[in-house]
Amino acid sequence: MQECEHVFCPYCGQQQELSIDLSAGTQRFTTDCEVCCRPFDVDVDVRDGGISGSEVYG
Ligand SMILES: [Zn+2]
Repeated sequence: MQECEHVFCPYCGQQQELSIDLSAGTQRFTTDCEVCCRPFDVDVDVRDGGISGSEVYG
């Protein structure tokens, strides 16, 4: 099962839509900004089968 989460690029502030695999649980991964193409880390907390929060790290 997947859920969409919105985060903001720590460099340019552009909102990004991420598709999160909930079965993987709480996860941290690197993604590239669609606008400025810089990579940043995303932490997604998964609790009770849903996204409870997320944080970005530049
Ligand atoms: Zn960006």
